[in-house]
Amino acid sequence: MRVQVNMDRCQHYGQCVFEAPSNFALNDEDLLEYVAEVDDANLEEVRSAVAVCPVQAITLRS
Ligand code: SF4
Repeated sequence: MRVQVNMDRCQHYGQCVFEAPSNFALNDEDLLEYVAEVDDANLEEVRSAVAVCPVQAITLRS
């Protein structure tokens, strides 16, 4: 599975970082960075990140 973040929507508040630090991080400028490829072991936490994003910016697809 892969994630994609619509950076035009993302507000960089970091809720996804708390849910899935495996794939999401805030950089030194507090802007979101992410790893698109999702390991199976991290799939559930990435699903949680998708669910908590307040602006529905994260898409998960195979
Ligand atoms: S939760 Fe959504 S809006 Fe917040 S940083 Fe993550 S992708 Fe961006």
